[in-house]
Amino acid sequence: MFEQLKKLFKPKQCVICKQKPQNPRKYYSDWGEEVLVCEKCVPYAERRALRKKV
Ligand SMILES: [Zn+2]
Repeated sequence: MFEQLKKLFKPKQCVICKQKPQNPRKYYSDWGEEVLVCEKCVPYAERRALRKKV
């Protein structure tokens, strides 16, 4: 039940453009949450200094 709730709050979408990401990369946001960034928003994510998940 809680797993389902978590999925609701973590939609699989690009954290920047909010679209369904194509070839998403995983980054960590400023608040340490794992986020998805689509290919075309990667440069923007780099400028925002999101930490790449390694
Ligand atoms: Zn995007």
